[in-house]
Amino acid sequence: MSHDNNCIFCKIINGDIPSAKVYEDHDVYAFLDLSQVTKGHTLIIPKTHTKDIYETDEKVAEQFFSRVPKVANAIKSAYDPIGLNLLNNNEEPAGQSVFHLHIHLIPRYGDNDGFE
Ligand code: 5GP
Ligand code: ZN
Repeated sequence: MSHDNNCIFCKIINGDIPSAKVYEDHDVYAFLDLSQVTKGHTLIIPKTHTKDIYETDEKVAEQFFSRVPKVANAIKSAYDPIGLNLLNNNEEPAGQSVFHLHIHLIPRYGDNDGFE
């Protein structure tokens, strides 16, 4: 699996930076975002380092995207939200700040839950 020593998400996968695990298997890791836009805001990442959607090969994409429903259901069970947004930012102008592919899973709780 490819790994980037300068990437904070690769460090999280390795356990060099602590994180609150939501789900893990051979191919993906999911953990709570440090800045919770709503309660249970989670990131899912492939264990292999890939910068963004453009650089992701098909096999990594299949493994990665196929696990999203599992993580979504784990969040639904743990937090009981009334909705869930998925968000994937690619390149800086689109809001990407960590250059290791990830999807935000943002549980929703109603009009004033803090996420626009
Ligand atoms: P982006 O802006 O690239 O779509 O999302 C990156 C996300 O990673 C941000 O929401 C940010 O809060 C989160 N993040 C950055 N560094 C860390 C960290 O060390 N630990 C955790 N759990 N989340 C992080
Ligand atoms: Zn990485």
